[in-house]
Amino acid sequence: MAQPLTLPPGERFHLKDFDPDFTGPYHKKKEAREKTWANLERLNALQEMLYAQGKHALLIVLQAMDAGGKDGTIKHVMGAFNPQGVQVTPFKVPTEEELAHDFLWRVHKAVPRRGMIGIFNRSHYEDVLVVRVRSLVPKAVWRKRYTQINNFERLLADNGVTIVKFFLYISKEEQAERLRERQETPEKQWKFNPGDLDDRVLWDDYMDAFEDALSKCNTRHAPWYVIPANRKWYRNLVVSQVLIDTLEKLDLRYPDPPPDIESFVIPE
Ligand code: ADP
Repeated sequence: MAQPLTLPPGERFHLKDFDPDFTGPYHKKKEAREKTWANLERLNALQEMLYAQGKHALLIVLQAMDAGGKDGTIKHVMGAFNPQGVQVTPFKVPTEEELAHDFLWRVHKAVPRRGMIGIFNRSHYEDVLVVRVRSLVPKAVWRKRYTQINNFERLLADNGVTIVKFFLYISKEEQAERLRERQETPEKQWKFNPGDLDDRVLWDDYMDAFEDALSKCNTRHAPWYVIPANRKWYRNLVVSQVLIDTLEKLDLRYPDPPPDIESFVIPE
């Protein structure tokens, strides 16, 4: 059975139609890992060209429920990139100063310059996810944000920023397992945040909020991909493949060398 990663813009996402356990044609970790390693090499080469050319920026948005694998994806997939060309921005609870501005203020400042790859660990979508689910602002405020986000992303796209957005989709059972593992494993306990349990209780509300965000903000210039993420090895494979496909659509080339490069004599 096949499963789409995205839908045409304007179509409604129903998460029940997506299986977080899906692993495509792969049944074993080993096979998928080999393909992922090859993908990471390709990604590294593409990034080098993006950096050298300095014409495009790539913005990667990562959203997930807690323990959904954002950190693991950054480590295992984005680890392929040369750190010199990457900036990772985690979006936490807004500071007093950030809250005194419009919700996109802190986000716009973190957008990568041309030649760079920016990774958002959480993003402006929190302002229609946690903010909506926890009623941190009135509905009249958050419901306007979908259009505001689309306009913002359009502005970025028109200015050389290629945007790709990943929803790492895990099941509620998988989350429980990962939270339990965090609770029990000494090296993982630092990640255990009792506050995550409060969000877990609101799982269904979060899924509704995700469905709306995915459906309303899935555009040609900033598509959403739903990544089956219960199996980390399949998640890494799919994310790496989508990134390759995205970068290959850009017209990436090394810049021209200085004229008459052969004529220069390297001094002894
Ligand atoms: P993470 O879970 O991403 O590893 P944290 O444990 O520090 O990192 O969690 C960041 C928290 O900040 C999350 O609970 C998230 O919902 C919250 N957050 C991010 N952006 C906003 C926002 N705009 N408004 C309210 N809360 C936010």
